[in-house]
Amino acid sequence: MREMITQPADRQSEYRKLPAVDVLLRLPAVALLAAEYGDAAVTTGVRAVLAAARTAIAAGDPAPAAEAWAALVQTHLAAADVPSLRPVINATGVIVHTNLGRAPLSPAALAAVQAVAAGYSSLEYDLAAGVRGSRHDHARQLLRELTGAEDAMVVNNNAAAVFLVLSALCQGRGVLISRGQLVEIGGGFRIPDVLRQSGAHLVEVGTTNRTHARDFAAAVTAETAAIMRVHSSNFKQVGFVTMPELDELAALAHGRGMLLVDDLGSGTLLDTAAYGLAPEPMVQQSVAAGADLITFSGDKLLGGPQAGLIVGRAELVERLRRHPMARALRVDKMTLAALEATLRSYRRGRAVDEIPVWQMIAAPADDLATRATRWQARLAEAGIAAQVQPGESAVGGGSLPGETLPTWLLAVDHAAPDAAAARLRRGSRPVVCRIQHDRLLFDPRTVLAEQEGPLLDALVVGLDNA
Ligand SMILES: *Cc1c(COP(=O)(O)O)cnc(C)c1O
Repeated sequence: MREMITQPADRQSEYRKLPAVDVLLRLPAVALLAAEYGDAAVTTGVRAVLAAARTAIAAGDPAPAAEAWAALVQTHLAAADVPSLRPVINATGVIVHTNLGRAPLSPAALAAVQAVAAGYSSLEYDLAAGVRGSRHDHARQLLRELTGAEDAMVVNNNAAAVFLVLSALCQGRGVLISRGQLVEIGGGFRIPDVLRQSGAHLVEVGTTNRTHARDFAAAVTAETAAIMRVHSSNFKQVGFVTMPELDELAALAHGRGMLLVDDLGSGTLLDTAAYGLAPEPMVQQSVAAGADLITFSGDKLLGGPQAGLIVGRAELVERLRRHPMARALRVDKMTLAALEATLRSYRRGRAVDEIPVWQMIAAPADDLATRATRWQARLAEAGIAAQVQPGESAVGGGSLPGETLPTWLLAVDHAAPDAAAARLRRGSRPVVCRIQHDRLLFDPRTVLAEQEGPLLDALVVGLDNA
């Protein structure tokens, strides 16, 4: 306020130096920008730059110099042209990072998306017969082969899969679920809410920590449609805990004319125990144990695109396909292309070599140490001190809670680690890392090989004043 009173004349003269919008638009350098960004964007940019200048003058700054305007407009347009959804380098060591887009796709999946999305495709066309086909046919055979299920269907995500199964097969009837499995997955997906939305009635069975087959048996009535098992994806119960085995529940359900629905969450086709992790339930095991319908995600441990996969008995899957909601939950050609290519890696027995999520899980600690040491040397050349230290990576994505994989981290001590991490996030190639005890930690496990160069460039710029 005091300034406003003591310097009004100066301020007025600064305001008077601001050119009119059309004067700026006619500057040759600004007019040239229209070819790149479009007339409307340039006009918007000019107005924004003038508004910023007015704000700056009000705060006591001088007006920009006459020759500075074109550059200001260009800087503004370039910043406004950066996409909102951008690639990020994930140095957190969390493999299936939901906030960072979950599973990176394999090169084969990317190539399939590119090939199918750039032109027309056989999405709903039977090339052999020359007649209309079904998009549901594309991943179907592969999913049947890989899981042993009679039939399969793909929807938008696993939440949609659960919702469709309950809506189509359990509406207006009871669904028995153990009290220990009334879980919240995250992002507002809570099993009791999904049940309510689907029109099924939740029947809680047993207790939080212990539910027996006899608890389910005692809860069955004439209006019970199904027993549902929900995998405790993102939490762990230890101690005095029991849940019936799936085959026990299958026998009970089938003996009483009910369905057994198994929401596996991540699900996996490969055995996580072979990689030093706790066993995550496998889809094939659920099929073999007698679950009638099994739902799981495409972009968790499967390592493919966002999708909800439903496998199970043919007559039931057929009812799901015919349900009116199936149309609302269907996937597009890019998803199907990526999914099919991902599943083909499994069929070839090459998933661990070709699918990034599994390459990361299987990465040997020695390789990670070698990479971290190489990064350390590169930073040393740029005058940035860093250490290599042992640490832990996580599978993430709401699977295998508490389970970690031993790794080697690049660690950088920093006086202002939060500010440095923010700089790395805001760079032209955003990097997301961890901070622990004032150290920035970078885990090679989740950094793809082709991202190493850009990562090191970003670190040299972002950690400059370490
Ligand atoms: C992750 C998960 C879901 C939701 O799957 P999305 O593919 O994210 O929709 C549902 N149920 C369980 C048990 C999960 O772990």
